[in-house]
Amino acid sequence: MNKLTDAPIPFLDLVTPHLEIEEELVSVFRSVVKTAGFIGGPLLENFEKDFADFCGTQHCVGVASGTDALRFALMAAGVGPGQIVVTVPNTFIATTEAISQAGGVPDFVDIDESTYNVDPMKLREYIDTKCFVDRASGRPVHKEKNLVVSAVVPVHLYGQPADMDPILEMAEKYNLVVVEDACQAHGAEYFSKRGNSWKKAGSMGAAAAFSFYPGKNLGACGEAGAVTTDDPAIAARIRIIRDHGQPKKYYHDLEGYNGRLDAIQAGILQVKLKHLSSWNEKRRQCAAFYNEQLGKAPGVITPFAHPGTRPVYHLYVIRIENRDALQKYLADNGVATGLHYPVPLHLQNCYRTMNFTAGTFPATEMTAARTLSLPMGPTLDKSQVERVSRLICRFMAAN
Ligand SMILES: *Cc1c(COP(=O)(O)O)cnc(C)c1O
Repeated sequence: MNKLTDAPIPFLDLVTPHLEIEEELVSVFRSVVKTAGFIGGPLLENFEKDFADFCGTQHCVGVASGTDALRFALMAAGVGPGQIVVTVPNTFIATTEAISQAGGVPDFVDIDESTYNVDPMKLREYIDTKCFVDRASGRPVHKEKNLVVSAVVPVHLYGQPADMDPILEMAEKYNLVVVEDACQAHGAEYFSKRGNSWKKAGSMGAAAAFSFYPGKNLGACGEAGAVTTDDPAIAARIRIIRDHGQPKKYYHDLEGYNGRLDAIQAGILQVKLKHLSSWNEKRRQCAAFYNEQLGKAPGVITPFAHPGTRPVYHLYVIRIENRDALQKYLADNGVATGLHYPVPLHLQNCYRTMNFTAGTFPATEMTAARTLSLPMGPTLDKSQVERVSRLICRFMAAN
């Protein structure tokens, strides 16, 4: 057999995209070393400005990670201690960690099994059946927990925006803060019927969190994150929270965090931001090619891209009955895959005191058992997509 076509296919090739721009990345480091401007300064400010422009927002505040971005956004948007923040159980744990660490109480509604994102109907049902509305604040109050619901965190999972129009409508009606978890959706777009225009992920809520973890569509060479917002007060508060609560050195308005974005990482992100649109386009081409190849395979459910969205395919996720066996077959044939996520949050050990049982969120649980993330990335090529798809077709025909 041809050696080249039999080379292992990684789940994500992180090396090639960096080598292609190695000189530019190294020159960022060189320029910072010359000035020792490691914290703050023009590299940070320039990146913040460019990323805000990219997202179509007024402000961007660089922070140390996506988790910090979510936590600081929730704090700055006014989520108070003991208030419920509703999100989905089909997400990375950082979403709920940030809610708890901001003083909130995470609670869940199920996803839509076609998009894997929050189902707005289930959010409505949550408010209608589990809550009464407090006259004074206009906010829902959870009947059993007797806690106010103050915010919603829609997650734009796998790079596809959640259905924001109905969520924002409910948020207006019930005085809820919306913080987007856009950690997987840099550059994704949503067609807002309310605004009759395409909106970038990260520009629709009161604030949004981005992660620049190396494997994200826009990744640093280390840890990094950012909050985007149109609200100058939220941006100003996050600038203080990320820097020990000090508007001025050694003058502390509150107890904050060490949650700043390094100047070197900001400089690297600015270099990489110039490539983000073309990298996203390559991901879309790979997704289209997978769709074409796998459309023929019986029993394979390819990702449903809602026509009102332009996803950026952080992950390309298929659904099949015999998931674990297919994953093993692909591994045996040199193809690495991933599970996002194998255990829904409501069934994780750390949340056992929430007393959720299996069966509570059926769409999420079905997704956890049946989805498989295939190799995806800006340097994945057609022949690799073809080989992965051929293996899947062969497996499906035999099983
Ligand atoms: C990556 C990710 C985060 C957290 O980002 P970090 O930079 O790793 O802290 C949060 N939410 C989602 C959905 C993510 O994928």
